[in-house]
Amino acid sequence: MNKAIFLDRDGVVNKERGEYTWRLSDFEFNNGLFEALKKLTNYLFIVITNQGGIAKGLYTHTDVAKTNALMLKTFADNNLQLTDIYYCPHHTDYGKCLCRKPNSLMLERAIAKYNIDVKKSYFIGDTQRDIDAGKNVGLNTIKIHPNDNLLDYINKIK
Ligand SMILES: [Mg+2]
Ligand SMILES: [Zn+2]
Repeated sequence: MNKAIFLDRDGVVNKERGEYTWRLSDFEFNNGLFEALKKLTNYLFIVITNQGGIAKGLYTHTDVAKTNALMLKTFADNNLQLTDIYYCPHHTDYGKCLCRKPNSLMLERAIAKYNIDVKKSYFIGDTQRDIDAGKNVGLNTIKIHPNDNLLDYINKIK
């Protein structure tokens, strides 16, 4: 089985701006992200993100694909592999779904697809719904403040 670090996107990977981020010009990687992940060898890295702005009509799947491509390329530029990115395009204002965190369908799919041992894996998020989603599937969880430097937390990962 594999070990994984699941990462929330906004506030963990990139700057939480207090509003939706979909333009590449607004997408700013947080300090310490790549340095921290480089210390976590033998883990898969998988992003799990709510993108309810799609349901709201603020941006489209194409916009999310562009930010996904930017993440994949920038990880690679830092000699890191981003294994996968899951996003929920729904929003509770417009209907129910099973994927929007704190629901855990995105995590369940990733855990099955990549044969992940939840007891040895972590969800790092900056909101309680991230932590709740992780706990739903038995992951270890680490809650940070938005845009914290991940280097300050990796001592929590064994
Ligand atoms: Mg967040
Ligand atoms: Zn959803």
